[in-house]
Amino acid sequence: MLNNFLNALFPETCPICRRPASDHKTAPVCTECWQSIRPYTGAKCRKCGRPLTSDASTICGDCLQDEPAFESARSFGLYEGALRKALNLLKYHNVIRLSKPLSDILLRIETPRVDAVLPVPIYKKRLRQREFNQSALLAKHLAKGTGSTLVLDSLVKMKDTKPQVGLSSNERRENMRNAFGIQNREAIEGKDILLIDDVSTTGATIRECSKVLKKAGAGSIHALTLAHGMMD
Ligand SMILES: [Zn+2]
Ligand SMILES: [Zn+2]
Repeated sequence: MLNNFLNALFPETCPICRRPASDHKTAPVCTECWQSIRPYTGAKCRKCGRPLTSDASTICGDCLQDEPAFESARSFGLYEGALRKALNLLKYHNVIRLSKPLSDILLRIETPRVDAVLPVPIYKKRLRQREFNQSALLAKHLAKGTGSTLVLDSLVKMKDTKPQVGLSSNERRENMRNAFGIQNREAIEGKDILLIDDVSTTGATIRECSKVLKKAGAGSIHALTLAHGMMD
């Protein structure tokens, strides 16, 4: 009833399909668009979760060559369709209320019990420009949903990196080198960690964060992202 009441007062147009949106929970995105967000169920790397083009192998080339410091990384869906649009609305158009239904999607991924939930941080200057870190918003809901501690002051971004898109594998690694640092070490030392990011394009960010966290004494690390952006 509250739903109907709110919609009567504030009718909204779904920014994805331009039809009227009637579900307050996922607003401004309509129910039809939201329900089109589906988990990726194809072949994937058992270590980093990257979608694989064939199920002949169970591990991707990157993980074979250079084993990641994290225990596992998982994404919900592919970076396309309504999921991609919803993530862009959150990140670039400040539709902050989408962080709640997007976090509910993340909570559907099965993960082991952890002590702490950490978002992949953004650089200070960027945070001032954008006013919020979308991964921190997701991590906040995840911490609440899993009954773990939200840790925002431990993993920090030390330099303003270039976007990873369009860089070669070596350039990506170089770009991310020394990009993250640790403060307030006690918050992560010996702790099992859930690391949260919105999108994993190449996995380089999650890899680098995990390396730094493990070096500082973190326990197990499981990474969760909403969407995976690249086919192997
Ligand atoms: Zn729609
Ligand atoms: Zn992999």
